[in-house]
Amino acid sequence: MHDHYQLLVLGGGPAGLAAATIAAKRGVTCALLDEQATPGGQIYRAIEAIPEQRARQLGSEYLRGRELVAEFRQSAAEYFPDTQVWSIDKERQAGLLHNHQARIITADQIIIASGAMERPVPFPGWTLPGVMQAGAGQILFKSAGIVPDNGVLLVGSGPLLLLLAWQYLHAGVEIKALLDVTPFSNHLTALPRLPRALLAHHYLSKGIGYQIELKRAGIPMLFGVSDLAAEGDGRLQRVRFSHSGKRKSIASELLLTHFGVIPHVWLTQAAGCRHIWDSSQLCWRPKLDQWGNTDIDGILVAGDGAGINGARAAEHAGRLAGLEALSALNVISQTERDRLAGKDRKWMHRERHIRPFLEAYFRIPKSLLATPDNDTIVCRCEEVTAGQIREAVANGHENSNQVKFFTRCGMGPCQGRQCSNAVAHIVADARGKSVEEIGLFRGRPPVAPLTLGQLAPLHRNAET
Ligand SMILES: Cc1cc2nc3c(=O)[nH]c(=O)nc-3n(C[C@H](O)[C@H](O)[C@H](O)COP(=O)(O)OP(=O)(O)OC[C@H]3O[C@@H](n4cnc5c(N)ncnc54)[C@H](O)[C@@H]3O)c2cc1C
Repeated sequence: MHDHYQLLVLGGGPAGLAAATIAAKRGVTCALLDEQATPGGQIYRAIEAIPEQRARQLGSEYLRGRELVAEFRQSAAEYFPDTQVWSIDKERQAGLLHNHQARIITADQIIIASGAMERPVPFPGWTLPGVMQAGAGQILFKSAGIVPDNGVLLVGSGPLLLLLAWQYLHAGVEIKALLDVTPFSNHLTALPRLPRALLAHHYLSKGIGYQIELKRAGIPMLFGVSDLAAEGDGRLQRVRFSHSGKRKSIASELLLTHFGVIPHVWLTQAAGCRHIWDSSQLCWRPKLDQWGNTDIDGILVAGDGAGINGARAAEHAGRLAGLEALSALNVISQTERDRLAGKDRKWMHRERHIRPFLEAYFRIPKSLLATPDNDTIVCRCEEVTAGQIREAVANGHENSNQVKFFTRCGMGPCQGRQCSNAVAHIVADARGKSVEEIGLFRGRPPVAPLTLGQLAPLHRNAET
């Protein structure tokens, strides 16, 4: 690894792979860094080594990753797997953990393509062993072929939950039930967005197809579920919930939850980029121009880290950001950039037809986001409850950061990645304000835990 590159791409999902490939083809020195062991990101995880049968069980969208990764491998971009980025600053210095040691490298242009994460939603019992996020279940399946062997209960809302249910069905997993928390009122708010969504009818028909197959297979699917609680003595034994006006319970040792995905903003926050609240996607995202430029010169964002638009849109956004970086590096002119961007811009626009409908249909109800009962743990690392957060608000602490100082929520090893959104929703609800007014925890590097031993080489290098 060199100390300086013309272009640094952070993240090896569809956005990062596409950006690095297009840039490296034009001869710039380009490195792609990713914390995973192989390229592909979340959707195409383990695509190069996966056995054929498992790849088919994951569906046709998954197979698209093969082409993308092959193109990247053929390019001259340097690839550094198992490399975690823990800091970026305005001078485009990136702090990395590579071969278990910290180092700093610089770049003329940086494209952040760090993707998305599942939205953490606290509910009673969510910290019990046996309760996990659906994405974690899917990661185990993609990367190691590990599936639940004693049945699974799936709970939440969103396309990924349905996809995982379908993937598990094809892998022979016993699905005890799929409990959908999407409120019926969402159907009405989504309806006016249906005509535009029909322009991307392949996504709609895929979703309906999954539902039909699950129903035919006899999987119980309950809609309009609320008041979720995971219960058990030291580990999950049952899940209680309300459905059709009745309190019900299902015994299970494993519960996988999914409440949508939100952009991974920790690196853009660490860099000091400006962020805006997206009230449709209920998340913070960096403020960007049409090429992915942030308000910091030479730092761009592409893919789901810029707002959730899906894997295909991430690929187009990656190429657009790659072209913009080439133009900023004076490798291509702005006229050439605009000409080369035409197809990706058109396809990205088409990919977005489905989003307004999905965002309205799968909007997570406020009752889940903002009103967990007082005993529910919100910050898992510091074990801070919703009640303690409300108490801090009652004592005059007005925003996320003040509540953080007072309660220590967000100060544990995950540095608030798991609780920051939930805290903002709870504080906003308690104060009768919008989440936008309450704000997100201030993000500071390192964005991931580092040991002193890992940091020490930085000091030695500075001395020599
Ligand atoms: C758990 C999960 C599973 C998903 N599964 C599917 C699916 O099966 N099908 C589907 O259509 N969509 C899925 N999605 C949505 C899908 O991830 C996106 O639409 C798409 O992958 C976005 O591409 P991207 O390139 O923006 O980001 P990603 O594909 O997420 O790639 C980002 C990459 O950056 C890496 N990264 C992040 N932070 C750092 C850091 N600090 N240092 C180094 N590397 C870093 C990540 O490990 C990842 O490899 C999933 C999302 C999640 C969160």
